[in-house]
Amino acid sequence: IPAAHDIPAVAGASLRVPLVTGGDIGYANLDHAASAPCLDAVRDAVDEFLPWYASVHRGAGFASQVSTRLYERTRDVLRRFVGARRTDTVVFTRNTTDSFNLLARSLPRHTTVVVFDTEHHAALLPWQGPNVRRLPTPRTRLAAVSAVDEALADAPQGPRLVVVTGASNVTGELLPVAEIAAVARRHGARIALDAAQLAPHRRISIKDLDVDYVALSGHKLYAPFGAGALIGRADWLRAARPYLAGGGATKLVTEDAVVWNDGPERHEAGSPNTVGVYALGVACETLSRNWDALVAHEQALLARLRKGLEGIPGCAELQLFDAPVDRVGTVSFVVDGFDPGWLAAVLSAEYGIGVRDGAFCAHIAAKRLIAVTGGEGRQAVRVSLGLGSTEEHVDRVVLALRQIVARGARWEYAKVDGRWAP
Ligand code: PMP
Repeated sequence: IPAAHDIPAVAGASLRVPLVTGGDIGYANLDHAASAPCLDAVRDAVDEFLPWYASVHRGAGFASQVSTRLYERTRDVLRRFVGARRTDTVVFTRNTTDSFNLLARSLPRHTTVVVFDTEHHAALLPWQGPNVRRLPTPRTRLAAVSAVDEALADAPQGPRLVVVTGASNVTGELLPVAEIAAVARRHGARIALDAAQLAPHRRISIKDLDVDYVALSGHKLYAPFGAGALIGRADWLRAARPYLAGGGATKLVTEDAVVWNDGPERHEAGSPNTVGVYALGVACETLSRNWDALVAHEQALLARLRKGLEGIPGCAELQLFDAPVDRVGTVSFVVDGFDPGWLAAVLSAEYGIGVRDGAFCAHIAAKRLIAVTGGEGRQAVRVSLGLGSTEEHVDRVVLALRQIVARGARWEYAKVDGRWAP
């Protein structure tokens, strides 16, 4: 594991949380896949920027010029971060969900959309109607590529879009994006990459992967909530009805006509989230300087975690694919005889560990992957690693699960408002 000083520091490393058993303990945040803690570098940069923020695009004052410059400059930061083509546009959105809804509203009429049904709801639900082909995700990467190939071969002529995630938010497994992109290209289709889970963990390149669009969220990239981006081909977006109508999206408004902007502002009406966008840019720049150490850190912890989970009686990991594949530090599992929500509650209340339980906004994936383990439920526990994770956190969650399973479910927890509580 690389030394701690080789990887960017995150805020919250010294947070302490109360235990029901008395006293407090250092918080083990093992929920990076939901939202990652803020990088120290981001916090410092935002601190410095806060006194300066002022109206973007709309003010002549010096502070407005600073804000506008930083906001616009961040488009280039994002472009570099995802290895975009020179002609790609960068639209700032709220998050990945917002980015895909924007893309969905910008599709030419009668676009056929091909998507695996195990995707996160953000990448699954924006596409609705008779032109959507939902594919069950096969159990091998090769079959996944073939399934897209066949779906595109069967699709009617006209615009086509494949939507695929880079890394599963349930299992952390990487999907064969470059291979699917090659198939899409052969059929003249476009491809959109859900990079919400991949971008915080691996360098991505639009050019190398040969994808058309990338969607990502700042809060998963170690920046605060509220800023994300859609990056990619400009033509469909330029031709589309503005996603938000209002100030900033127009070139000219007269009594009886509106001339909309052609650039990314077309879809960004209203005063933008300048601080959030700036924070997202700083996070991207910080991660870009540290990929090797970051990946080594996470992979070492992931191996330690998976080895530990193997030793827990009745514990079964969820997997998309039968054969082992490259993956980021996210692991979901079920433990025979234990309610996932109850397990997560005990991990929090008695061990100071934050994990996620449930179906992870990917209901079809959760149900199907649990069935592969022989289970019948729809919910699991997810442990997800990142820059804030340490060996101690991993060892603590493994030891905690071992102890909890050994003692069995106890009555001291009850469901309150649908959640387990001590
Ligand atoms: N796609 C994936 C793979 C995700 O994990 C998430 C967040 N859980 C999203 C999309 C949606 O991200 P956001 O909630 O930031 O819009």
